[in-house]
Amino acid sequence: MITDKRLVLMITDKNGSRHINVSMIFRQLSLYFLLFIISIVLFLIVSISAFNSEIKDINSKNILIKDQYQRMLKRNSYLTEQINQRLEEISLAGDRINDLESVIGVSKDDYELENNNDLIGRIDIASITGAQKAFVMKFIPNGYPLENYRRISAEFGNRMHPILHILHKHTGLDFSTKVDTPVYATADGVIDYAANGWNGGYGKLVKVAHSFGFKTYYAHLNKIIVKNGEFVKKGQLIAYSGNSGVSTGPHLHYEVRFLNQPLNPINFAKWDMKHFDSIFQKERTIAWQSLLTTINNLMGQEKWDQQQLSLKEQN
Ligand SMILES: [Zn+2]
Repeated sequence: MITDKRLVLMITDKNGSRHINVSMIFRQLSLYFLLFIISIVLFLIVSISAFNSEIKDINSKNILIKDQYQRMLKRNSYLTEQINQRLEEISLAGDRINDLESVIGVSKDDYELENNNDLIGRIDIASITGAQKAFVMKFIPNGYPLENYRRISAEFGNRMHPILHILHKHTGLDFSTKVDTPVYATADGVIDYAANGWNGGYGKLVKVAHSFGFKTYYAHLNKIIVKNGEFVKKGQLIAYSGNSGVSTGPHLHYEVRFLNQPLNPINFAKWDMKHFDSIFQKERTIAWQSLLTTINNLMGQEKWDQQQLSLKEQN
């Protein structure tokens, strides 16, 4: 028969004969094969999803490591910069120590103090006129360089450096104050130095040269509004405070110098008309009497000039 193509096997043994349908066997075999394929596909799907999640994991780790690497790079450049700044500061401190050793020496301090005790003894305070006092208060640094401040964060003298952690002489007085506090000249003078930049750790810095060998420094500024060579009056706005240079927080570093030697600015800050005599007792390294005599002569000369002028006009 043509329609029936089914192959039938007949097995005969001693127990008799059996018929086995060959196409049934094929069908069963193909079913097993299909199951085999399905299980392989399932296995592949499971493994691929496992791989995928692992790849995602590795990717996120990669991003994290890249991020850490970037942060380390930044930190490294920051540390390099810090090291350079510290090296500069150390060389500056070294220069200052050399200056102190060669210029002053230990014995000179004692000598000056002894010598000036005599000078102070000879100051005749009672004979100083109001006009003389006004002259002194106009030309020699006195009062505070800012109207208000939070606190004095570092005094003048030997201290542990807050950043370098070495013992050094703090050459000024630190007024803790918020950034952009107005800074005023503490006496008439001329701008000796006004510059942005590093300035050996001072940051943005203004130096004012006053009469009779005095100078004042205003450091770690945010904005300078005067120029080199500009003449300024006592109380004139010269800058705004900041946090530039080697500084651990917003503050004004204020220095008073006489013949380039830093003096304790607090004695000058507290000095005013009401306490006119205080400076003669507290700051003993200056020949005050000699200075007062010079001022007296200057004022006398002025009077004499005026007299001459009025005499000429009369003639
Ligand atoms: Zn300071």
